[in-house]
Amino acid sequence: MSTETWRATETTETVRTTGRTTGTSRGKFFIRTFGCQMNEHDSERLAQIFSEKGMEQTACIDQADLVIVNTCCVRENADNKLYGYLGRLKFIRETNPNLVILVGGCLAQKDSQLIAAKAPFVDAVFGTHNLHRAYDLFELAQSNPAKPVVEIWDAQDEWWAPSPKSKSPWSAWVTIQVGCNNSCTFCIVPFVRGAEVSKPLDTIVDEVSSLASEGVVEVTLLGQNVNSYGRDITKRKPLFDQLLKAVGSINGIQRIRFTSPHPKDISHSTIRAMADTPSVCEHLHLPLQSGSNRILAAMHRGYTRERYIERLSDARQAISDLAVTTDIIVGFPTETEKDFEETLEVVAEAEYDGAYSFIFSPRPATKAAEMDGDFVPPEVCLSRYERLQVVLSHSSYKKHHERVGRLEEVLVEGRSQRNPNLFTGRTRQNKLVHFGGDDLVTAGSTLLVRITDATSHYLLGEQEK
Ligand code: SF4
Repeated sequence: MSTETWRATETTETVRTTGRTTGTSRGKFFIRTFGCQMNEHDSERLAQIFSEKGMEQTACIDQADLVIVNTCCVRENADNKLYGYLGRLKFIRETNPNLVILVGGCLAQKDSQLIAAKAPFVDAVFGTHNLHRAYDLFELAQSNPAKPVVEIWDAQDEWWAPSPKSKSPWSAWVTIQVGCNNSCTFCIVPFVRGAEVSKPLDTIVDEVSSLASEGVVEVTLLGQNVNSYGRDITKRKPLFDQLLKAVGSINGIQRIRFTSPHPKDISHSTIRAMADTPSVCEHLHLPLQSGSNRILAAMHRGYTRERYIERLSDARQAISDLAVTTDIIVGFPTETEKDFEETLEVVAEAEYDGAYSFIFSPRPATKAAEMDGDFVPPEVCLSRYERLQVVLSHSSYKKHHERVGRLEEVLVEGRSQRNPNLFTGRTRQNKLVHFGGDDLVTAGSTLLVRITDATSHYLLGEQEK
């Protein structure tokens, strides 16, 4: 999953209670997740581990006997947020001396000793490769007077657990791969997640079949670089196209999504598999990062703007009504006004449905962080970022307005949080829709919605009766 997918937003305050508590509750745990979908998914795995041990998940930190912090390190402010959060936990610990605190995930993998030094009140620290050891470390920490207990593995040696049921009863994430073999110069992910390891195809098919039998209709296949999935298994060519077809043949799975593909690896066979597998949704997240060939080379991305545009055009030709989203970094070291204008040109040509854009932030141990003599001044970054937002929001507004009047197939998520008189759901193109419907509308069902209006962020509509 690219920094692309590892976009450094703080995505969840808490993780949904899984309802998997077994036996008598042996205390309550609270999980705080920083970071991307992979981290959210890892937090669901942690929730499952502790629930199966008889503990109960709580969304209220004041009720917790155990707090697990799942960390992110993709952006600088993620570090700052973690240390700020640990300061808050220190205060809570002072009022509740029995509270146990575990810190795991990407920043813990990278900075375990720093965390132990800065926050000695933490009971245990674990990394990305030994998340399945979290409960054992929790027990060890309680019996071990020397704190914190720190256990970091260099690599994940095997697939140790199926994906936990996630997101909702009808929608699940399924990890197909961890790690990344690329070396994008701005990215810290290979340092904290290691080399690519693909989950065997049969295991994934069994997992998705099992989810389908439990009522899941939508799966999102997760990996750092999904279209190189399987290259480590075959030692030659990737198996992502075969995986899409295999998952697409599982009864009950109506929608398949995946994140994220890498533009350098998106092949004709992947595009063909997307086009030929009806349950693969018409949505492609294809991270551009920059429209300047010079900056793409400095980022070590392995493609040019011409090649990117060509593959995007191939995908749009093969897959009708394809929505395309992207990631863009503004202010990579040495980026000139000309480089930035080339990014704006590609953005205008690509007509994205949506984008995640970030101002460059240097991460320790990456090559880009060593280019500190060439950092773009913050005020220039901010100005370029704001100019980019104007082009992106114009593009998404146009794309959304093209859908007004159409009938869209919507997977219902529930009542709208913005307006409880409306429902919320997603189209196959992953567009958020708020719509009016009758009382028979149920979460997890699929229905047709007539689109009546649009903004650059969402669509509005009415259930078609
Ligand atoms: S190194 Fe590149 S491809 Fe790999 S996770 Fe980072 S941004 Fe994505």
